[in-house]
Amino acid sequence: MTDAQPLPEYTLIRSDRRSLELRVLTDQRLEIRAPRRTAQSDIDDFLRSRLSWLARTRARLAQRAAPLTLPLAHGARHPLLGQPVQLHILTGARRAPFLLGDRLQIQLPTPDEASIGRALDDWYRHQARTAFNAEIDRQFPFYAARGHARPTLRIKRMKSRWGSLSTRGYINLNLALIQLPRPCLEYVVAHELCHLEHMDHGPGFHRLMDQRMPDWRARKALLNRLPVIA
Ligand SMILES: [Zn+2]
Repeated sequence: MTDAQPLPEYTLIRSDRRSLELRVLTDQRLEIRAPRRTAQSDIDDFLRSRLSWLARTRARLAQRAAPLTLPLAHGARHPLLGQPVQLHILTGARRAPFLLGDRLQIQLPTPDEASIGRALDDWYRHQARTAFNAEIDRQFPFYAARGHARPTLRIKRMKSRWGSLSTRGYINLNLALIQLPRPCLEYVVAHELCHLEHMDHGPGFHRLMDQRMPDWRARKALLNRLPVIA
C-alpha cells in the first residue's frame, strides 16, 4: 500500500494486551502499544487512522505550560490541591512529615535534596490516597445505585494520562492530581467513573458527563493548561 503522507516515528511496545493504543508522551514522543502478533501493516493503518487525533493532541500539549521545577529546600512552596504549603525543614530523628497550618514540617537526620524529595513524595502519596478515595466515595453512590462495584484506587505517576479505568476493577489516578486544584481531581474522577457505564468516549459518555458534571469542559481546559511539577 502506498500513501503519500509519511507516518511519524514511534516506539512500539508489544505486550499481552488485546487492542492497539497510541500515546503521546509529555515530551511529544509517540508510543504505540500493540498485542504481540499484530502485523506491521495493521499498526501502520491504525496510526494513519489516528493522525487527526494526533494533530489535535499535539496542539493541546504545545499549549501546556512547561513543567515547573520547585526547590526542595526550607521555605520553598509546593502545592497541595492547588494551595501552597511551605516546606519547613528540620534536622533530627526521622519523623513522618506533617502539616501545621500551611507549613509542612519535614524532619530528617540529613535533610539533603534527595531525602527531602523522598519524604515529600511519600507525603503526597499519603495525601493522595485519602483525597482520591474521598472523591471517589463522594461520586460513587450514583453508580452503586446502577449496580456497579466500586473500583479500587491505584495511584501511579503517569506520563501521558491523568487516569484510567480498568475492566478488572481498578481506577488508576495520576499522583500529580494531588498538586492541582481540586476541580481537576473532581473532573478526572467523574470522567473515569463514567467509563463504568460507557467504555468509549462516544455520545453516551458525553451525555452522562454533561449530566454528572455540567461544567466538565471548563475543568478539562484548566487541567490541560496548568503546568505539572517535574
Ligand atoms: Zn476516558
